Amino acid sequence: FLPHLVAAMEEVEETYIMVKPDGVQRGLVGEIISRFEKKGFLLKGLKLFQCPKELAEEHYKDLKDKPFFPKLIDYITSGPVVCMAWEGVGVVASARKLIGATNPFQAEPGTIRGDLAVQTGRNVVHGSDSPENGKREIALWFKEGELCSWVPVQAPWLRE
Ligand code: UDP
Ligand code: MG
Repeated sequence: FLPHLVAAMEEVEETYIMVKPDGVQRGLVGEIISRFEKKGFLLKGLKLFQCPKELAEEHYKDLKDKPFFPKLIDYITSGPVVCMAWEGVGVVASARKLIGATNPFQAEPGTIRGDLAVQTGRNVVHGSDSPENGKREIALWFKEGELCSWVPVQAPWLRE
C-alpha cells in the first residue's frame, strides 16, 4: 500500500539479537532494546528465556572446537536471556555496528559493548553475523506464533 514500504521490502533482513545473562543481571535490558528501537528497526519478537544447554550448543555450533566453547555454553545458560527478532533494511550489518567488536576493549565508544562491557566473555549482547544466520537463529529461538508482523506508525517518517 505505502510505496516506500513496498520498495523497501526487497532489501528487508532479519537479525537475532539477544541480551546475554550478564546484561539481564546488570539491568541493561531496557538500555539495549532502546538502542535498536531508537535506530528505527522493527521489533518482531521479544521474550525472557532460560536457555537450555542443547539450544546454546546448537546456536554456537560453529564455535564448538574453540577452547572457550564450554565456558561460553556455561555463560549463555547461567541465567535468563532476552531474545529479540528485529527487521529492517540492512539490519544485520547495522546491528553489528551498534553492538561493536567482540572484545569490548576494541569496541568503539558509542557501541553497546564499547559503552557497557569490559570483557569478551561478558560482552552483554549477541547479534547475527549474516542474513542467513539471522533467519537460522530466529527460527532456532522463536516458535512461529511468537513473531508478529506489523506496520509501525512511524514507518513513513523513517523512509522517504
Ligand atoms: N567468546 C569468548 N572468547 C573468545 C571469543 C568469543 O568467550 O575468545 C564468546 C563471546 O561471548 C562472543 C561469543 O563467544 O560474543 C561468540 O563469538 P563470536 O566470535 O561469534 O563473536 P560475536 O559474533 O558475538 O561478536
Ligand atoms: Mg558471532
